[in-house]
Amino acid sequence: MCARKYSISSDENNMTTEKTYLYGPVPSRRLGLSLGVDVVPYKICSIDCIYCQLGRTTEKTIERRDLVPMEKVLAELKDKLAKGLKADFITFSGSGEPTLNIRLGDFIEAVKDLTDIKIAVLTNGTLLYREDVRADCAKADVVLPSLDAADEATFAKINRPHSQISIENHVEGLCAFRKQFAGQIWLEVFIVKGINSSQGHIVRFKKLIERIKPDRIQLNTAVRPTTLTDVKRLEPSALEKIANQLGAKAEVIADFQPADYGKSIERDAEDVLSMLKRRPCSLEDICSGLGLTRNEVLKYIAHFQQEGCVDSQQRQGKVFFKAVI
Ligand code: SF4
Repeated sequence: MCARKYSISSDENNMTTEKTYLYGPVPSRRLGLSLGVDVVPYKICSIDCIYCQLGRTTEKTIERRDLVPMEKVLAELKDKLAKGLKADFITFSGSGEPTLNIRLGDFIEAVKDLTDIKIAVLTNGTLLYREDVRADCAKADVVLPSLDAADEATFAKINRPHSQISIENHVEGLCAFRKQFAGQIWLEVFIVKGINSSQGHIVRFKKLIERIKPDRIQLNTAVRPTTLTDVKRLEPSALEKIANQLGAKAEVIADFQPADYGKSIERDAEDVLSMLKRRPCSLEDICSGLGLTRNEVLKYIAHFQQEGCVDSQQRQGKVFFKAVI
């Protein structure tokens, strides 16, 4: 899936306006510095999550189609690479569900021919019951599917799937993919308070996750604006408790932010750079240290990355930025 899995909004980070299918690179909590490739027009998806940050699904479908002009996407990427693109991942994502693009496998192969940068696919995972979708996703290095429910009623309530998708074929698809894919599977579980947060749900999640065998389990909750306005987020401590229950592979990726970053304090890009010259900092460090919003900081970081004066690295699952001196 899906732009919403970027922990960071992408729009503000585009440093030019001519890009149509690529966005970023943006610092992502899950993937480091990630260049997004949008292979699905807004908002074609197989489901219609109540927590989606993009709004309602406008076309709910399971039909795979040729959805964007491949040559244009690749031309944009070649241009980026020629300009010295630095990214930890090239990530197939978009304004909908990327596995609905029937040429996803061709895209991945074509990108591999152009660069050694690792490839990720952000997917809701609901089409992995299909052999062709599994074959396409298996060409990536990391696949990040979702599982938000452990029973049909909750699946219907949170994900509002296409009529031909059930929780059982969703889970079966994830299990089948695990069997054939030697790369990393990072399973996102989105917890909505009062819908899938009870002990009973967590116990059922655990059983399913034991069947699916992901390499990581990443817990999220509604920390950003959602399609339905009454979607309730779970408190950080409750999310941590669930992570503990799910075992050592589980972590919280929800991006809890203070409501106010202290906008009265004016800072500029030079402050960000000078902070990163002193020590590696996470996005949160910079925001709280300088009183800037995430989007302001992201703009500066994206710019500095392109200039080659800021680098990123992951430590214990967290992305840190530092100045290249
Ligand atoms: S999978 Fe859910 S969150 Fe992702 S684009 Fe579709 S509706 Fe939105």
